[in-house]
Amino acid sequence: MATNIEFAVSRIASVNPATGEVLGELDGAGPTEVRAAVARARAAQPDWNACGIRHRIQVLRRFQQILLARKADVARHITQEAGKPVAEALVTEVLVVLDAARFLINNAFAILREVKLPHGNPALKAKSGRILHEPYGVVGIISPWNYPFSIPASEALAALVVGNAVVLKPSELTPLIALELRALLREAGVPDDIFQVLPGEGATGAALVGSEIDKLVFTGSVATGRRIAQIAAERLLPVVLELGGKDPMLVLEDADVDVASSGAVWGAFVNAGQACLSVELCYVHRSLYPAFLDACCEKARKLRVGNGMDPSTEIGPLIHERQVRVVESQVEDAKQRGARVLAGGARLHEIGPTFFAPTVLADVDRTMRVMREETFGPLLPIMPFGDDGEAVRLANDSDYGLAASIWTRDRARGEHLARQINAGTVMVNDAVSCFSISEAPHGGVKSSGLGRTHGRWGLDEMVRVKYVDSDLLPRMKKIWWFGYGGGFAAEMESFLDLLFARPLREKLIAGVRSAGALWRKKL
Ligand code: NAD
Repeated sequence: MATNIEFAVSRIASVNPATGEVLGELDGAGPTEVRAAVARARAAQPDWNACGIRHRIQVLRRFQQILLARKADVARHITQEAGKPVAEALVTEVLVVLDAARFLINNAFAILREVKLPHGNPALKAKSGRILHEPYGVVGIISPWNYPFSIPASEALAALVVGNAVVLKPSELTPLIALELRALLREAGVPDDIFQVLPGEGATGAALVGSEIDKLVFTGSVATGRRIAQIAAERLLPVVLELGGKDPMLVLEDADVDVASSGAVWGAFVNAGQACLSVELCYVHRSLYPAFLDACCEKARKLRVGNGMDPSTEIGPLIHERQVRVVESQVEDAKQRGARVLAGGARLHEIGPTFFAPTVLADVDRTMRVMREETFGPLLPIMPFGDDGEAVRLANDSDYGLAASIWTRDRARGEHLARQINAGTVMVNDAVSCFSISEAPHGGVKSSGLGRTHGRWGLDEMVRVKYVDSDLLPRMKKIWWFGYGGGFAAEMESFLDLLFARPLREKLIAGVRSAGALWRKKL
């Protein structure tokens, strides 16, 4: 049952965070538009499903080739709207989507095909079961601004290939790139009503959650995710929630300091730290602590901060003033509680209002907000630990559980510790890049969310599993039907022994005792 949500429609502006230039203004979708879009999607979806998976895979193939041809333009548009360097837009957005399409083109047919389900229960042997992978119908996607192309596109491609229609509500900060995704999909052959974009603020997203969608994939903050989960619970709307992270990096005493410090600096500052999988805090074995701090500071100071359109830029602006204030307040709180700022620590006003220097913090402890709350900015707090047990305890002492990384020269040791960490993903000797492995499931535990996107698990989330069961003896009444009579319970006791007793003699006796059930007169 849909919930009617009324609100005033507001105009939204897409602003280049590096320059403040207004890239475009759009009307946000109001409740009427949301309802109408979902109704159009519902009406169009059966035909899209009827096209068949081979056709939809062909569409994905065309989409992939069109995107490949336009990669440079798409990357530049992402940079203009979201601020990240063009090279990062190519690698962490365009490449991720090309590869997500590759995964679906190569695997969707096999994963989604109808399969026979062999039966294990001997009492029901005379049946043939099949599993069908059916689309939900209309999938709503609500996405954030930090990966404005790769997050909605990879989720939408999975939903579309199954035969769903998609209604996307992108972040109000990055609506234009979502409209570009729509244009690319249309050109590839996705019908207008099968992939629709509803620009707007949170209220538009709330209206989509309250609409007649059949499934929701939400990516965003924990606070919004919780609100959505409450509303979804009212009408039992199935949801995937991809929420925040506070990913720890553990540097063991046998790690290569040069490699691990480069990994820490990239993992913490990629996309100016605005990545759900970014290294949010770093625990380093005490024996490496001074050398590791020095290496991170030296590398952080060398990073080139600026407009992402400049090819030499490594770190762009933060998306919004709000985001900078969060970063500043966490640095202030850490300083007041005794942390030392070894690199960065402040805005770079001379470049623009939302540029923040890549910042390394030492002498941090678990009382500080920077060690417990998601920062989503270019901060790298580093704290020492004594042994592996303490490292695992520190990593698990968190409300979040999206991902973690372990750095060691001993892969077996890294993989052993990985099993003890409560997170959706643990990487050994790298961070963040798991999002680009299209085969790998992406998602968290604890406050980091529910469900998975990407890989076969992401595809499963877009599927309503149906079980079809046919009886192979349609002219026979079943022995468990009515007409029990006085002896049926005793016969069934023996029948259970026939099925599950271990000694052969007991089985044989039970077989004889239960045989009467076959000839019992059924109603
Ligand atoms: P956000 O929660 O503010 O917004 C996300 C989306 O939800 C936006 O489109 C927004 O308009 C919409 N929204 C806001 N209020 C809503 C409501 N009441 N009902 C429905 N929709 C509503 O998050 P954000 O600031 O855009 O993104 C940053 C957050 O996203 C961070 O916490 C980050 O960790 C998280 N994130 C998680 C992943 C992941 O895969 N786990 C990936 C990227 C970002």
